[in-house]
Amino acid sequence: MGGVYIHVPFCKQACYYCDFHFSVNTTQQGELVDQIARELELQKDYLQEPVQTIYLGGGTPSLLTTSQLEKILNTVYKHFSVASLPEITLEANPDDLSVEKLTALKQSGVNRLSIGIQTFQPELLRLLNRAHSVADAHRCVEAARQAGINNLSIDLMFGLPGQTTSLLEADLATALQVNPPHISLYSLTIEEKTVFGNWARKGKLQQVNEPEAARQFELVMETLDAAGYLQYEISNYCRSGYESKHNSSYWQRKKYLGVGPSAHSFNGNTRQFNIRNNARYLQQLKQGVIPFELEVLTPENKINEYILTTLRTAAGCNLGFLLKEFGFNLLTAHPAAIQQMLAQQQITLDGGLLKLTRAGKLIADTLAAELFALEK
Ligand code: SF4
Repeated sequence: MGGVYIHVPFCKQACYYCDFHFSVNTTQQGELVDQIARELELQKDYLQEPVQTIYLGGGTPSLLTTSQLEKILNTVYKHFSVASLPEITLEANPDDLSVEKLTALKQSGVNRLSIGIQTFQPELLRLLNRAHSVADAHRCVEAARQAGINNLSIDLMFGLPGQTTSLLEADLATALQVNPPHISLYSLTIEEKTVFGNWARKGKLQQVNEPEAARQFELVMETLDAAGYLQYEISNYCRSGYESKHNSSYWQRKKYLGVGPSAHSFNGNTRQFNIRNNARYLQQLKQGVIPFELEVLTPENKINEYILTTLRTAAGCNLGFLLKEFGFNLLTAHPAAIQQMLAQQQITLDGGLLKLTRAGKLIADTLAAELFALEK
């Protein structure tokens, strides 16, 4: 089974922390949808397997008109074999959606919504330069439910400048009242080429320090665990059966096609990275050329990607799979590191599955890097 990701590179305004590819100039939106359709046609042979998931991300896909969205989905159905009952997710900002629009989206096939709420604190929304209000966030969730889209995810953040423990507790309490079946909860990362990055360089950003961010992450994990959410991936929590199938397929090394400026594709052996520039993307697609860079994965790349991504999941890193698929014996490659992680209760090793404990999740990437295969 494969997945299709569509990148919609437009936003109403730039959030101060965001490093994704987007433009606030939406005048080319219609033209870009046409060229996304063109790219889908050009890439129709990329996936040999049926498409099980379609994910519209961005940017802000909820800025698309219903007919633009239908054009994209119809093009996927026209050129690919789509499995029955695919998961079709739309990322949305709370200020874009009414019951009417959501009802139309549902009729077009959208059956999962990922809503970018980030925080329920008005002063933090302003600090992040989000375009929506707290009231918009509640209205959007309510509207989705009225439209019959119950497979909802909300995005929240911790480690925000000025976000005290009590503000985070308040956000978690509100999230539990809203009671979505899926919550994505990310720690703020300060990216260099953002407004926050600029403020941080000038010492103007009141950043949460590392120990405090770790305490906030622990609070998130404890609170959502106590409320019955399964942390099926380090930043993703859900009620049973509401895992994101699309995102899970990334962690399971399934093939996917990414379409649109800055989108990535993966076929097991290579990754393709589309250009991060709307004008150049349009220009080249109009000439029938997809502007992308290709990375051929080395055996070590594949092993290390597998370790990095699976260690972040509740399913864990399967040592038998690593050996069978890549000929990599993790236990003999890094015996001392594994012993130390076990002694410090950062990992568990049971039935050939290596998993992070709660303490290990606080430093997941550091632990994964210690287990990597070295380039020969
Ligand atoms: S709406 Fe999303 S993609 Fe757009 S700037 Fe904000 S965080 Fe980035």
